[in-house]
Amino acid sequence: MFTIEMLPADEGDALWIEYGVNPVRYVLIDCGRKLAYREVVARIAASNLRLELLVLTHVDADHITGAVPLLQDARFGADRVKDVWFNGWYHLNDLPWDHPDRAPGVLDARQGEFFGALLRDRGYSWNGAFRRTPVVVPDQGPLPRIELDGGMVLTLLGPTTEKLRDMRRRWEADLGAAAAEKRIDPGDYERALEILGSDKRSGPDVLAHREPGPIVIPDLLEIPFQPDASEPNGSSISFLAEFDGKAALFVGDAHAPQVEASIRRLLAERREAYLTLDALKLSHHASARNTSVSLLRLLECPRYLVSTNGTRHGHPDPEALARVVDAADEGVELHFNYSTDRTLPWDDPLLRRDYGLRCIYPAAGAGLKVPL
Ligand SMILES: [Zn+2]
Repeated sequence: MFTIEMLPADEGDALWIEYGVNPVRYVLIDCGRKLAYREVVARIAASNLRLELLVLTHVDADHITGAVPLLQDARFGADRVKDVWFNGWYHLNDLPWDHPDRAPGVLDARQGEFFGALLRDRGYSWNGAFRRTPVVVPDQGPLPRIELDGGMVLTLLGPTTEKLRDMRRRWEADLGAAAAEKRIDPGDYERALEILGSDKRSGPDVLAHREPGPIVIPDLLEIPFQPDASEPNGSSISFLAEFDGKAALFVGDAHAPQVEASIRRLLAERREAYLTLDALKLSHHASARNTSVSLLRLLECPRYLVSTNGTRHGHPDPEALARVVDAADEGVELHFNYSTDRTLPWDDPLLRRDYGLRCIYPAAGAGLKVPL
């Protein structure tokens, strides 16, 4: 058994993964905003369960905002998760998080390290699989491969050392630029989150906010791919998860060229021409800037997952979904965790007929569980 549930997480991600039987095991990737946090912590408390792994892919608000209250919730705690993967400030400086010296230009914990400070102070296992050092793909050699209890195998595809370096500069620059109105008072937790993941960190999508219109795939394919340049998105932890003959690719909000390069490395390691998947969680909520045709051409994949309610950035972008629909040889499925004016038009009889497209939507107010 291997299922991926896209919890309602506003415009963000909160991916609840279950694998195995007797026992069923759990992995959580990101925790959306407050809505997703409430669902996650209620579930953990109700079933008295323990996560194998919590991955915080990157620091943008739509991924981290729910994760910080989760770490502090009395119903959660270090005994509720075996390991947490997150690249904090020390990791951006290529140091283990418990390095005895202050990292160069280290942030005030109040401002930039709430999540890391909570992990450390409350005794969570933090990047345990990486001996507390960065979760990063080395420049040379085989891709890191981690086996979770119960037999799920994760192959790390991102971030690269270069993407972490870019993020380090960005992190520093953002703090250096903080003016009085950005200052945080001790204990003003919500305010810190706003600054950590403010929308300024990920620039608005150039092609977002267009009026929804009829979907004409050839027209959408003509719009050129403009790669995402946001450093936080580029620093996303991304990996292939394999269990029981099934494979899913989780890429956070990662940059398409970096994911593509790592997949090429993986294919070279495995001496294969295509990466065969059962599902791909589309990067950055199916932004046009994070899914390229050249990336899709490396995949043999029948299911594409879109996690967003479309607020703030107007995701998913039709260009990205058009590339997905066109790149697939046979029928393809789009799985959405919200029914919105951006997702519902894809359930179209002509697209069904011409492209074999099938769209799957959640029941009202619920997430969408995708069995592989
Ligand atoms: Zn995001």
